[in-house]
Amino acid sequence: MKPNKNHHLETRSLFAGYDPSENFGAVKPPIHPASTFVFPSARAGAALMETAYGIEGAETPEGDGFIYSRLGNPTLTVAEKRLATWDGADAAAFFASGMAAISTTLMAHTSKERPLYYVGPLYGGTQHIIDYILPEMGVEVVKLDSLDDLESMGKPESLPGMVYLETPANPTLQVHDIELATNWTKSNSTEEERILVVVDNTFLGPIIQRPLELGADLNVYSATKYIGGHSDLIAGGVSGEAKAMAKVYEYRTFFGGMADPWTSWLLARSMETLHIRAKRQTESARKVLDFLQEKPGVPRNGINNVLSAWEQDLAGKSDYKNAAIVKKQQKNGGAMLAFELPGGRKAAHAFLDSLEVFQLAVSLGSTESLAEHPASMTHAGVSTEDKERTGITEGLVRLSIGLENADDLIADIEQALEAARLSLEEKNALR
Ligand SMILES: *Cc1c(COP(=O)(O)O)cnc(C)c1O
Repeated sequence: MKPNKNHHLETRSLFAGYDPSENFGAVKPPIHPASTFVFPSARAGAALMETAYGIEGAETPEGDGFIYSRLGNPTLTVAEKRLATWDGADAAAFFASGMAAISTTLMAHTSKERPLYYVGPLYGGTQHIIDYILPEMGVEVVKLDSLDDLESMGKPESLPGMVYLETPANPTLQVHDIELATNWTKSNSTEEERILVVVDNTFLGPIIQRPLELGADLNVYSATKYIGGHSDLIAGGVSGEAKAMAKVYEYRTFFGGMADPWTSWLLARSMETLHIRAKRQTESARKVLDFLQEKPGVPRNGINNVLSAWEQDLAGKSDYKNAAIVKKQQKNGGAMLAFELPGGRKAAHAFLDSLEVFQLAVSLGSTESLAEHPASMTHAGVSTEDKERTGITEGLVRLSIGLENADDLIADIEQALEAARLSLEEKNALR
């Protein structure tokens, strides 16, 4: 296509992966549901297959021939080229879910010899793999309290396969300094043993946070969230440096967790509006955040605590080094917010039951605004001790800001706060 490196990202991504002249001039890509692809000749088929399996002496296949849709599919390729373009990555891969993307990446780049280092809190599914599945496979897991621990640890005996982190983290929106990890892995990697930095970038996505530009090797995504963006699909993505991606593709081929053609088509379509959604959703989130605070760092009367990955609201807190990290690595604070109601679970549930514009559901990053109660919903499986340590209190409510008018969202929160307050008064009157 005509757009080139001199064009802006949103221009290039719109054209990435698809050429109308190869498809009857159709301005949009078709869906290719085919499971298998006809080889032009036996010799060409052999070249394709032997190359795919890395057989020595294989003939170089002509063009980018497809074989079988578990290995690759034209619709999947369109979506992957778009994600790679958005992320400024050498390559990208889409999976059937965020967990398929994350588990495949963890398996591809850790082993008995190469431990996993990670810093929490992490998405519950990822934490489960780390706590139960990797150890069963003999992979040593090292939990860091903070990325600062890397420096004080000195040179490890067995080099980890990767340092894995999620920023901002779910649901407290705590941020981690990506460069602390990438500086450490760069100075400790060797020629033969490279240590990757893998960042779960689900909460911000390529428009707001660009980990590869800070030296990270791979991004992983739940594409179910902002990349899909419409609560109508489940998918996952990985993007990054070519060599690290090659192993991810190999593992995906044999684990079989690729995204199907229909999901790929939806993803390619959704990525055309990714920047517009990110812009509007973050603008509205900023307005909702301003409503939740009397002034930066001071929660509105009736709310205990406001959590966000925005820099300004936290500036007032003296022990808060996050503001500097946010400023360095994020364009803005994204569209996820959380706040704590006094009155614990009863107040939080009353608040959620009173919402009329926000819909009560887990998940996030969609066109519609969603609200949920982490302690009893997304994080119900987390131990009481870990909940306390990471700030997942009984009064905490998480919001995902969508595309509704921000004033309607604010009015909805205001009336639900009042309903939660009244429900507590009733409870007290009954005592
Ligand atoms: C939802 C989510 C996942 C898991 O993705 P699925 O698409 O549900 O498999 C992983 N990481 C984060 C941060 C998430 O929010």
